[in-house]
Amino acid sequence: MNTRMASLELLADRWVERTPPDFSRKRFLEFAEDFYTHYPGFTGINWIDPGGGVRWVFPREGNEGFIGNMVHEHLNSRVRDPFQKAGEHLQYVTTPCAELIQGGLGFHTFQPLIYNGRVQGYLNGVFRVKRIVDICLANSILTDFWIRLYEADRLIYTNEEQSHSNPKKDNLHVLRWIHFPGKTWQLELFPKADLYPPKVVRNSGLLAFGLFISAILSLLLHFLNHRMQMYRQARDHALHEVSERKRAQEALKKNEKKLEVLLTELAAKNVELETFVSSVSHDLKTPIVTIEGFMGALREDFGNLIPEDCEKYLNYIGDATQKMELLINDLLELSRIGRLTVKKTEFPLADLIQEVITALQPQIETKGIQITVMQNLPWVYGEKKRIIQVMENLLSNAIKYIGKENPSPRIEIGVQEQDDRKVIFVRDNGIGIEKIYFEKIFQVFQRLPSAKKIEQGTGVGLAIVKRVVEYHGGRVWLESEPGKGATFFFTLKDKDN
Ligand code: ADP
Repeated sequence: MNTRMASLELLADRWVERTPPDFSRKRFLEFAEDFYTHYPGFTGINWIDPGGGVRWVFPREGNEGFIGNMVHEHLNSRVRDPFQKAGEHLQYVTTPCAELIQGGLGFHTFQPLIYNGRVQGYLNGVFRVKRIVDICLANSILTDFWIRLYEADRLIYTNEEQSHSNPKKDNLHVLRWIHFPGKTWQLELFPKADLYPPKVVRNSGLLAFGLFISAILSLLLHFLNHRMQMYRQARDHALHEVSERKRAQEALKKNEKKLEVLLTELAAKNVELETFVSSVSHDLKTPIVTIEGFMGALREDFGNLIPEDCEKYLNYIGDATQKMELLINDLLELSRIGRLTVKKTEFPLADLIQEVITALQPQIETKGIQITVMQNLPWVYGEKKRIIQVMENLLSNAIKYIGKENPSPRIEIGVQEQDDRKVIFVRDNGIGIEKIYFEKIFQVFQRLPSAKKIEQGTGVGLAIVKRVVEYHGGRVWLESEPGKGATFFFTLKDKDN
């Protein structure tokens, strides 16, 4: 009985745990059928509306008379009162035994199902006493003993026949208490007289001992049965968990597939965008060349006639077209990374750095910068032309932003080990960058106000650096403080990884 009642409570808990819970007839019938077949003993499992009306019953056969009954108006207070208590205190209740509408003596359990702080309905278990006795007591006990079952002082079951001369109260008998949630029953067993010849009956000590042993055995059997029910419940629970987990895994797989499709779409869109940028940049170059060409023609043909003011304006136009050309070239370069690729090779980093320093030598000398390059630099792996571009952009920035009034401008280039990876760095003691801009400066066209005052630029250089480094499986970052210089770091994937 304990298991049956616990299972009913468990059923109610599982029901409301689902979000959102499904309080449909279909779901009720599925649950009820499952419980009815797995835990024999129920006379009925029913659904009662919050208003107290019995709406659905299982099994229909034998319980149909119960449909439509209003439990809170039940004629018998033994059913009515506990039901009202279940609704008021929102708790599970068991009624005392009463005459059932389905016939016979039995009792009800009412379990309110609460969701969103409101009662959604009641789960009602109906148990007929006779059925419970038939299931729980062994057949041999039923045939060998007269049985009396009491709830408080009320006789709720007996197998004594009317015609039979009832056993006397003081006859030899066994008394047992049976407990389950909300109930205590008293069981009396009287040996049937004709089973025992008079001489055996006279040996009452032996009989008492026999009864004592059988009581102990039935107790053991009861515990064994209880334990088995517990294991069964645990197994059911584990099976439920496994199926839930399987469902979650399947959902995860589905999402992964969706994500893959989205990523492929995204990659296609990226390629499309880069191709677009590239073609637009090419197209923009043509009008610039035309403007520059006609400015040249204007100067050539009307050089003497051009007044001083007009010459000034022409110079502005020239500067602007030049800047535009630089911008377009940078954008074209950015769109080419990863799109137009050449074979990756291994080469010495020292040679590459030397090449870049030589190219930037005029600016280094003009600003009187002292450059230090670390000894014993390693070999690196990648597209050499692109890595030269990274170094060139970082070094030219270090030169540009070294600061106009820097008394001893210095730049240091080297490699350090960090978490088993080679980290290449370019350090300067220039104007530095505030921490809030550490991410922003790697975006296209982002130039800081401090930089605009000092030098010209397009704001694309660091975006190119980031794109190339990431294309090589590496990462770029910086450390800096305003007025104390900046150090840019980057990594590249090794050949074997
Ligand atoms: P550009 O140099 O053409 O402006 P970049 O993308 O190379 O564009 O750099 C973006 C911005 O980051 C620069 O405008 C400047 O404000 C800042 N920056 C880059 N390198 C340094 C550096 N070494 N020291 C100080 N500021 C820097």
